[in-house]
Amino acid sequence: MRRREFVSGLGLATLGACATAPSASPVQASAGPDPYANYVPVNSTMSRVTRTVVGLRPYRPAGYRLETERLGDKTVIHNYGHGGCGVTMSWGTASVAADEASATGQRDIAVLGCGVQGLTSALILARRGHNVTIYAENLPPHTTSNVAGVLWMPTGYFDYEHVSREWLAMNRKLIRLAYYGFLPYVNRPGYGVYWADHHSLGRRVPTDRKELPGGDDIYPELRMSTENNLFGYAYQERFKAMIIDPDYYLDAILQDAQLAGARTERVRFASVEDVMALDEKTIVNCTGLGASQIFGDEQLMPVKGQLSHLLPQPDVTYSYVASTSKGVLYMFPRKTGLVLGGTHIEGDGSMEVDPAQVTRMVEGHAELASRLRAPATA
Ligand SMILES: Cc1cc2nc3c(=O)[nH]c(=O)nc-3n(C[C@H](O)[C@H](O)[C@H](O)COP(=O)(O)OP(=O)(O)OC[C@H]3O[C@@H](n4cnc5c(N)ncnc54)[C@H](O)[C@@H]3O)c2cc1C
Repeated sequence: MRRREFVSGLGLATLGACATAPSASPVQASAGPDPYANYVPVNSTMSRVTRTVVGLRPYRPAGYRLETERLGDKTVIHNYGHGGCGVTMSWGTASVAADEASATGQRDIAVLGCGVQGLTSALILARRGHNVTIYAENLPPHTTSNVAGVLWMPTGYFDYEHVSREWLAMNRKLIRLAYYGFLPYVNRPGYGVYWADHHSLGRRVPTDRKELPGGDDIYPELRMSTENNLFGYAYQERFKAMIIDPDYYLDAILQDAQLAGARTERVRFASVEDVMALDEKTIVNCTGLGASQIFGDEQLMPVKGQLSHLLPQPDVTYSYVASTSKGVLYMFPRKTGLVLGGTHIEGDGSMEVDPAQVTRMVEGHAELASRLRAPATA
């Protein structure tokens, strides 16, 4: 089994050489009074950990598979392999998958998978009047999508060496579609989507700063700074970012899909033959990591992630992703608790909690929090 660090960094990758286009915005030094005077430090101790969860990101170096395939008398539209950003990309990739499914002219459509990609595809199709059945082994809250953080940030889902210019151009369009697809849900009661003051923190000032994925203009109030940064970091990109609580969000869109007429059926597909036995002629495949077994995709691999949840701190309304000497650490504030993360282990398909990672998270975030009142150099 290959075990190597997954180079995503939830946005930190875009601070260096691997982003898409030069930025128009200059890096600014921000002087003035302490901009974090009102920030409440995260109270990160072992006794405040309420649970630790593990999930496997469905990662493909060549990026998500969004492709239509003819199999016997069926049209299969693949929409899987979104790595560390399946929630983020959902309104983009699912819209394309739904358009492809509608274009077959079939009224009855099977959606395989009930994670965020299957649910979004099913919701769009059911609202268009299709007769949709979602077939899945697991429904929310038992999907990988429920494990996710979630910060709306398209990173950690492809390797630049494995994608073409055309793919990157298409991906940019879908990032923007995904962003605008989520906006109507912000602050809508029951959906668990809200803005946070987000900080991407780097230990070095980039010499070749690139635009954030999809374009700087979809990151409200974006400011780059080399002074007065959170936790005393050398470089910061601060903007408003959407935080999505998947436990609320997935329940809400499942309910929306059902209200629009979609049905769910619990079933496990062992192979492509099981899929071929379905009555529907048009099939949208959103089985995430499951596509590896069902459709034999050898590029698909797990990237293990572990998150520790802390007791809620309602006054913590900021989020961060920080490059530290102990690896990347991130914190997302949910209403139900604070989410601590920062593990990406490529090729590891085990679901066991690693106690050493819990300690790394809790101590690492406590150390960062201590700098709020006594800033230090990162
Ligand atoms: C620790 C962690 C943190 C993350 N943080 C973020 C984040 O901040 N932002 C972000 O955008 N993303 C994040 N992600 C990534 C995100 O969770 C995934 O990209 C996303 O969940 C993939 O969604 P999906 O619908 O494709 O797959 P899933 O949610 O895995 O759903 C797959 C569905 O297919 C079904 N299925 C699979 N195999 C079969 C089979 N053989 N037969 C029948 N049904 C089957 C499953 O039961 C399930 O219903 C994170 C992931 C992890 C693990």
